Amino acid sequence: MTRINGFIGRRNFLKFAGTGSLAIAATAIGGRLIGNIQQTAIADVHPANPNPVNPTQALKLLLDGNQRFSQYKRQHPHQSLARLQLVAKAQYPFAAILGCADSRVPAEIIFDQGLGDLFVVRVAGNVASDMAIGSLEYTTAVLGTQMIVVLGHTKCGAVAAAVKNEPLPGKIRDIAASIKPALIHSNSSDFVIANIKYQAQELQKNSQILAKLQQAGKLKIVSACYDIDTGKVNLVN
Ligand SMILES: [Zn+2]
Repeated sequence: MTRINGFIGRRNFLKFAGTGSLAIAATAIGGRLIGNIQQTAIADVHPANPNPVNPTQALKLLLDGNQRFSQYKRQHPHQSLARLQLVAKAQYPFAAILGCADSRVPAEIIFDQGLGDLFVVRVAGNVASDMAIGSLEYTTAVLGTQMIVVLGHTKCGAVAAAVKNEPLPGKIRDIAASIKPALIHSNSSDFVIANIKYQAQELQKNSQILAKLQQAGKLKIVSACYDIDTGKVNLVN
């Protein structure tokens, strides 16, 4: 089996992608990312990951890092010139984050991580848009990341805008529209939590690649909420 980052081969990537138009789309994504060398096996571009990190280990690394951050004991790992030169050769992010674009929630800082550690997708309201899903499919199916954290946060302006339900200008209304179903279908009064859970469900519902990786035990998706006031990340059940 051809292996990519020690996790999944190109053939298996297409298998996870399914058949028909989705498989073609997945091939196109790979082609764009590696340019004119699409005919070269992706394995040649991304050598096997010598140290794959499973979901349990990944979650511990994240929570330990957040504990250091919230207790003002950051270690600033993996930010040296040597690390930069190492990850220039290949990236093996041990976790992916679907987080809000809010300036107060920068993933590498609040989890005390460095270069090449996290594959971060940020959009207002941590909305599981098609582009966000595509990015997460890439890091899981091609780079071998086995953990996705859907990370919302307290005092989220995007969620507040959706709750207010007032007319919004431009594309901002699209963000709110992507959050509103979470509020309608939730019986929780905590709208931030409702949105985190909803976006995590959307990830699984709208991606065959992610769903199949989960079924194969190669991916875990967890929901979490960052507290703007304390700096702590709490898991959401
Ligand atoms: Zn937010």
